Amino acid sequence: MKFKCDKIKGAYSIFLTALFIVLTSFITGDKKDASPLMQYSISMADPSTHLLHVTLDCTGFKGDTIDFKMPQWMPGYYQIMNYSRVVNNFSAYSMKGNPVAFFKEGNNIWRVIPGKNTALRISYDVFSDRRFVANNYLDTTHCYIVPAATFIYINDLTDIPVSLKIIPYNGWKDIATGLDRIPGKNNEFTAPDFDILYDCPILIGNLEELPSFEIGGIKHRFMAYDPGNFDRNVFISSLERTIRAGIEIIGDIPYKEYIFIGIGPGAGGIEHLNNTTVSFNGSGLGKPGALVRMLKFLGHEYFHHYNVKRIRPYELGPFDYDRENRTNLLWVSEGLTVYYEYLIVKRAGLMSDDELLRSIEGNLNTIENDAGRQYQSLSQSSYETWDDGPFGNKPGGQDKSISYYEKGPLIGMILDFSIRNATENTKSLDDVMRFLYRHYYKKLQRGFTDAEFQQACQDVAGISLTREFEYVYTTKEIDYSTYLSYAGLKISDELNKNDGKRKFTLARQENMNPLQLSIFQSWSGN
Ligand SMILES: [Zn+2]
Repeated sequence: MKFKCDKIKGAYSIFLTALFIVLTSFITGDKKDASPLMQYSISMADPSTHLLHVTLDCTGFKGDTIDFKMPQWMPGYYQIMNYSRVVNNFSAYSMKGNPVAFFKEGNNIWRVIPGKNTALRISYDVFSDRRFVANNYLDTTHCYIVPAATFIYINDLTDIPVSLKIIPYNGWKDIATGLDRIPGKNNEFTAPDFDILYDCPILIGNLEELPSFEIGGIKHRFMAYDPGNFDRNVFISSLERTIRAGIEIIGDIPYKEYIFIGIGPGAGGIEHLNNTTVSFNGSGLGKPGALVRMLKFLGHEYFHHYNVKRIRPYELGPFDYDRENRTNLLWVSEGLTVYYEYLIVKRAGLMSDDELLRSIEGNLNTIENDAGRQYQSLSQSSYETWDDGPFGNKPGGQDKSISYYEKGPLIGMILDFSIRNATENTKSLDDVMRFLYRHYYKKLQRGFTDAEFQQACQDVAGISLTREFEYVYTTKEIDYSTYLSYAGLKISDELNKNDGKRKFTLARQENMNPLQLSIFQSWSGN
């Protein structure tokens, strides 16, 4: 072809240049001035190998080297997990399939040298054989994915959107997750940033969906792998009542849908913003006490979407996935959640006064027979949990540490009764939780410090609580009788000669004055 004049030739040349840039951009994945793009895909072609295969297509990164990192821990489980240890076959390619150089740096960093490539495809396998709520699991029956243990991030780039395509094993029809689905796409999901991606575990397989329920027009679902034999309707209606009692304390539902995800056999549960993953088997729920135990467990994980995910210590967000995120306040996040798990099941009318007192008694007997209480304060046990283990049982250190799961609920009760007593039962710890939710989560959009938490309690009580907070920051022996008497309760103890342990018992006083009676009744929801 010949050009008839230079003008046309020039215009055509500009057009061709533009077309070339567009095509080159497409082929290389280069999006000039575009924000970074992270597109994951995960498959499980041979579940018997326990290997998950992950690919990541990414563009928009900067620098001569790019550090891809695997988180060292997942929020909700405050232990270094070394997730990178089970990553195999890491490789990096250009979008044309040419290998790209990388080397390992430290235990959880893959340092990639992109050269002229503006887009990369990373791939690796994740060995997934541990049945635990904070670990991946894959076998021929189902798959459980912990995103923080699975999806690498680019250093300092955790606030960018992510997409995820899941390719389930042949014949697996269901995916349960709190992630948003991409409309019109099968098995494709998005998250606005890595905090949300890591907050949404994924269960894949042929799952059962239990009857759902709505509260305030918002749907609450329960999906599970092999949930066992039990009365679905009794279980779900009890769960609904528990959840309603939890919502009543804060008075706001901040998610657009909530899902309980039962991951099958294993241990534990972990809380998230709009979901929780729990080890679940309902087969024993007909046995005495089993339903109440299960409701306390599920109520605990549920209440966490307020207390720790939104009402949170300053240090717990935004997260640093590279190291311990230490705080003195896990006793508030975990201990008060244990306290509220009792109260919401009780206020839902699903346990008796006696069962409520036995629950608190359980914590009291554990802590008072733990020699560690003379060595480690409650705030220290929060800070040192990364060393002591999740329940304060560092090997060889059992006698020097305590668990905030045991002492935390007792301090919750002491603060609650102190506030109720000081305000003629017009205020309670519930008011503190509501204030923290509205002021720090909704208004300031941050966590609170140690001093701010104490101040919030004192402001609601209208008195100084210095004496009560000494039980948090020192190992001072707790004067239970005084605080229990505010609610018309009494404590007695005897020595068990067989095991040398002190056995404490809580009971109601015979004659309560009107304030004691009113505190006991509104506290217990009678
Ligand atoms: Zn918890």
